[in-house]
Amino acid sequence: MLNALYIHIPFCRSKCPYCAFVSLPGQSQLHGPYQQAVAKELAILRDRFSPTLDSLFIGGGTPTALPAAMLGSLVERCRQLFSVSDKAEITVEANPGTIDLEYVRVLIDHGINRLSLGFQSLQDNELAALGRQHSGAQAVAAFRAAREAGMANINIDLMTGIPGQTQGSWERTLTAALTLQPDHCSIYELTIEENTPFGDKKNWREGDLPGEEELMAIDKLTLDLSSRSGLGRYELANYASTGKQCRHNLVYWHNEGYLAVGAAAVSCINGVRERRIADPARYISRMERGVDVVVERETLAREASFRETVVIGLRLLAGVSRRRLQDRYCIDPIEYYGTTLAHLVSLDLLTVSGEMIRLTDTGRIYANRIMAELV
Ligand code: SF4
Repeated sequence: MLNALYIHIPFCRSKCPYCAFVSLPGQSQLHGPYQQAVAKELAILRDRFSPTLDSLFIGGGTPTALPAAMLGSLVERCRQLFSVSDKAEITVEANPGTIDLEYVRVLIDHGINRLSLGFQSLQDNELAALGRQHSGAQAVAAFRAAREAGMANINIDLMTGIPGQTQGSWERTLTAALTLQPDHCSIYELTIEENTPFGDKKNWREGDLPGEEELMAIDKLTLDLSSRSGLGRYELANYASTGKQCRHNLVYWHNEGYLAVGAAAVSCINGVRERRIADPARYISRMERGVDVVVERETLAREASFRETVVIGLRLLAGVSRRRLQDRYCIDPIEYYGTTLAHLVSLDLLTVSGEMIRLTDTGRIYANRIMAELV
């Protein structure tokens, strides 16, 4: 059943040197035509599917690089074309420095009920190292403005592994972020991606980035502080208060189908993954000329999809359900993985309890290696 839709907004105010997402700095002349093109693609989607949306996620890029009314009109368009459930979670990703009280009020007026704020850090030296265009004070001000406007569900994105980050600076960032009482917190480690200025940089020196020991101490601090703040860890990198787990990401972690529109957006429908053309100008031009914007289609074989569902699902602390896997793929994971799984259980990295298979506390530390064995 399809009930999640992702809309990609590929624009930012500037390009961060670590970013591998499809996003262009500036290009405000494309914003209007892009909105029109997305609205057109939404109508095409309606002709192919008739979903009841339970989750609508406008991500980027920086969606809030666009005027609030433009984002609002995309939500309105979805309401005209699809059935949107009364309790749908409608998220917009935002960066500090691009929103204020009035901006968020407009979003709320259009039914947007969740904001995901990209803080990354609250230390100005770390934000500068990441090439972010906002300060820590601006991030706090953006959060407060959103709350004052009436936004009841706010996520904060934070990052570990930042150049110059220490246990102490992380403790200051996390403590200050949690003091704001966000409903959800995502904490990812910086990855140095190829074909980015960070990836191309040849002169990283020892100590530029936090080392393994420092990162382990940072992870431990995260667990201690988040549990004291009332946010429960429900996914390897995600924490939420009760009932505020991100609905859209849960669809990804359960490896279920989802719709997507926009440049570079990837949908997954009935086991077929479709990737749209990445360049926003070419995306607009194709939509205007009525040319297909999908440039890549991949049909997932049953076994590959099964393994993917296991590996992604193990990111959830609840784990993966053996029964659901059997119902969906007619494959029993215990038989399928045989001695590999038994070995991981004997090392106390995985546990099988009732119908659920999940990572243990130790397993979560070595999650990447375990997933590499199972994929
Ligand atoms: S704001 Fe986000 S999407 Fe935009 S360049 Fe920076 S990391 Fe990438």
